[in-house]
Amino acid sequence: MFLAKKIRLKPSEEQENQLWKSVGTARFIYNWTLNKQEENYKNGGNFISDGIIRKEITQLKKSKLSWLNDVSNNVAKQAVKDACDAYKRFFNGLADKPKFKRRKKSKPSFYNDNVKLKAKKNCVLIEKVGWVRTAEQVPMDCNYTNPRISFDGKYWYLSVGVEQAQQSIELTDETIGIDIGIKDLAVCSNGMISKNINKTAKVRKLEKRLRRLQRSVSRKYEQNKEGSRFVKTSNIIKQERQIRLLHRKLTNIRMNHLHQATSKIVKTKPSTIVMEHLNVKGMLRNKHLAKAIAQQKLHEFKRQVQYKCEKYGIRFVEANKWFPSSKMCSGCGCVKKQLSLSERTYKCEECSLEMDRDFNASINLSRYKSVI
Ligand SMILES: [Zn+2]
Repeated sequence: MFLAKKIRLKPSEEQENQLWKSVGTARFIYNWTLNKQEENYKNGGNFISDGIIRKEITQLKKSKLSWLNDVSNNVAKQAVKDACDAYKRFFNGLADKPKFKRRKKSKPSFYNDNVKLKAKKNCVLIEKVGWVRTAEQVPMDCNYTNPRISFDGKYWYLSVGVEQAQQSIELTDETIGIDIGIKDLAVCSNGMISKNINKTAKVRKLEKRLRRLQRSVSRKYEQNKEGSRFVKTSNIIKQERQIRLLHRKLTNIRMNHLHQATSKIVKTKPSTIVMEHLNVKGMLRNKHLAKAIAQQKLHEFKRQVQYKCEKYGIRFVEANKWFPSSKMCSGCGCVKKQLSLSERTYKCEECSLEMDRDFNASINLSRYKSVI
């Protein structure tokens, strides 16, 4: 099995320049490919395969786009593939139309060929960049999948899937149902509760500081406007950097919390974990809740539970989309027709059970396999 690893890189100044070049190339090619697909689509054409686009780029490299030769050709190759995959999902009705990557909004990242990725003591070989120092050891002598290099506003990272043998541990015969949501991040059928980190004073304070900075920057943009042109003053640049770092800090706090919460659940060593089917996209349509849901990173929570289950050989089950985990009574099994989001306590009319709504749902999930 492959486990995701994220390792901080410590590039020299010269190497950092080269990393930025690869990032720029990846973004340029991604956008170029999207544009190509879009034009073609507008003219009634079918999806263009990535092979054809790559051939065209090879031709362009010889003439107009010779600067592409400065970076590894795998960067462009993968960027074409990423853009084509995104467009294919849109074409097949599985996703929204992919957006162009803007320099300021998109996450700087690019691909490194997995076969060419090499590791030695506290160093990793990145194509056309050379041996870059790392903050911790990249696992050696194993297979890698999908290596990506990215920048989070402060540091560079290598994210890579590393092949590992499955750990065999003694599991209990317990099945845990996990209900995830906004009030608490996760409520488990064994009574464990992971709080919503976004409701803590620490995160709220950071959010407040972020909002204040964002307001201040947009005010400064207005004040320094020359005609209809926006001007970046050194103060704006300074504040924008602070905003970036705050975003980074918040992301780290949230991710760290998710890792702790998911590890805590998995470490109780149940034999099965059941989670509900997640319709985050549908939930995001509720604009009153959209922000709270996006901040909770429920998809990421599920992804972590899933891979941690795999690591320990725990069976992971996703309940059917129509399984009424919230509306069902865990006492007598009857299903309510209506249950509004504001009803925090589940009250059964049949058997007069009263229970926290999320806990009730988690118990139903834990019994999922006996229901089907
Ligand atoms: Zn009941």
